[in-house]
Amino acid sequence: MKTWHADRLSKLPPYLFVEIDRKKRAARAAGRDIIDFGVGDPDQPTHRFIIERMSVAIGDPANHRYAQGIGSREFRETAADYFRKRFDVALDPESEIIALVGTKEGLGHLPTAVVDPDDTVLIPDPGYPVYEAGTIFAGGKCHFMPLREESQWLPRLAEIPSEVRRRVRLMYLNYPNNPTGACAPRSFFEEAVAFAREHGFLIAQDAAYAELCFGEPPPSMLSIAGAKEVCIEFHSLSKTFNMTGWRVGFAAGNANALVALAKVKSNVDSGVFGAVQQAGIEGLRNIGRSEIKAQMDLYRRRRDVLVHGLREAGWRVATPQATFFVWARCPEGLDSMTTATRLLDEIDVVAIPGSGFGKGGEGYIRFALTVDEDRIHEAMRRLAAWRA
Ligand SMILES: *Cc1c(COP(=O)(O)O)cnc(C)c1O
Repeated sequence: MKTWHADRLSKLPPYLFVEIDRKKRAARAAGRDIIDFGVGDPDQPTHRFIIERMSVAIGDPANHRYAQGIGSREFRETAADYFRKRFDVALDPESEIIALVGTKEGLGHLPTAVVDPDDTVLIPDPGYPVYEAGTIFAGGKCHFMPLREESQWLPRLAEIPSEVRRRVRLMYLNYPNNPTGACAPRSFFEEAVAFAREHGFLIAQDAAYAELCFGEPPPSMLSIAGAKEVCIEFHSLSKTFNMTGWRVGFAAGNANALVALAKVKSNVDSGVFGAVQQAGIEGLRNIGRSEIKAQMDLYRRRRDVLVHGLREAGWRVATPQATFFVWARCPEGLDSMTTATRLLDEIDVVAIPGSGFGKGGEGYIRFALTVDEDRIHEAMRRLAAWRA
């Protein structure tokens, strides 16, 4: 029988959660009371004021036609205003911002725009899977940068071998970080920008969680002097405004790289639905609204219950300062797949094994704070009675 799979698909890493997904579905079908910390997707609805703007925008015939590929002028100006107010960074809305059909789309297409076959791409391990997939689709070579707890989950750039440095075209970074919840200090961004300038490669900094922070708001890499020469930063509206299904984000920074990315995009997509762009504008203009603060307070309460419960049960876990993830060390002697499988089989709790984010995630497990506080209490009661 003829199969229609291109060779490049077999180069993608195996999807490790197949077995856990299957077990989860079977357990649900059997009527078991599953508590699911697996999904990195906000459980709360999109904020009311955004839905209201969308409801009006959807009736405007101007929005029924193809949108401008790089985003409407108003969307780009709003993103520039947000950048100026939030990060004190001036961006030219004509050349330094483009709209994306969600940041995942832009992150995935970027290597096709800037990486030639056999160029090397530096990828954090553990990391969000699209960095590797986009690199494979473009024919690039992945060089994984281990993130370790003892280095605050920051890559050690000095460890990158010199023969690799010579071939690097692109480096992905992601702070605040999924899956570890770590934030990068300004000093690390400075070091990364200097390193990229020295070796002449581009940095793609994924800032999808820039607004999901519990303390000091994280900086933009573009606020580092000289960053615009070597960096584009990806911003998402998905997690900030509970808009994952709407598909809107933007990339900002180096104008040349954005031209290349826009060229790829103009050949494969035709922009973000105009009404969704207007909904996004409404969000970006209202970043300081009480609803957004209340959302973070909700995550903070959930975080505190989960971290406290895990520690009471003897787990080793840091309190994340950003993102809606808690990254916990697996109990002594258990690898991450075994831990996840046993939690599901024995106490009906789902979490994601760290190894699913790359070898560097082994020994850890990720809980998403997308579960009601009451249910987190219930999960922690089960965990307290569980013996690893
Ligand atoms: C959720 C997530 C994204 C995707 O955001 P979209 O804008 O919905 O595509 C990007 N990067 C990381 C690290 C994420 O966790």
